[in-house]
Amino acid sequence: MAGEPQADCLFCKIAAGDVPATIVRETDTTVAFRDINPQAPTHVLVIPRAHYADAASLAAAAPELAADVLREAGQVAEDEKAEAGYRIVFNTGSGAGQTVFHAHAHVLGGRGLQWPPG
Ligand code: 5GP
Ligand code: ZN
Repeated sequence: MAGEPQADCLFCKIAAGDVPATIVRETDTTVAFRDINPQAPTHVLVIPRAHYADAASLAAAAPELAADVLREAGQVAEDEKAEAGYRIVFNTGSGAGQTVFHAHAHVLGGRGLQWPPG
């Protein structure tokens, strides 16, 4: 069911503390941790603790939780002093590079970022 923990989900395990991660921020509803394969000096993932497969499902089912994720993403950028500019990305679907089907925001910063992305 939407929002329920999924036994086979890596990010549910990270949210539960069952898989270690370098956590940079936590709230009652969200966890922010460093990406294991960083693509920029700042590369942090922000997830809702509750399981939704992607950002659109999250926003449709739990808009306040989606707002929590966005607010935390902004806080990560502020904490990391990414004043020059940063990017919040929600890869959605395998064709766009989504590999973990638990909604997550990538917060990328600390270097110049090309637009449009590849
Ligand atoms: P996606 O490709 O789904 O948008 O993003 C998934 C991200 O999760 C990737 O950037 C990948 O490097 C990261 N990732 C995959 N496994 C782990 C892990 O075990 N720990 C952490 N911290 N990040 C992970
Ligand atoms: Zn999950």
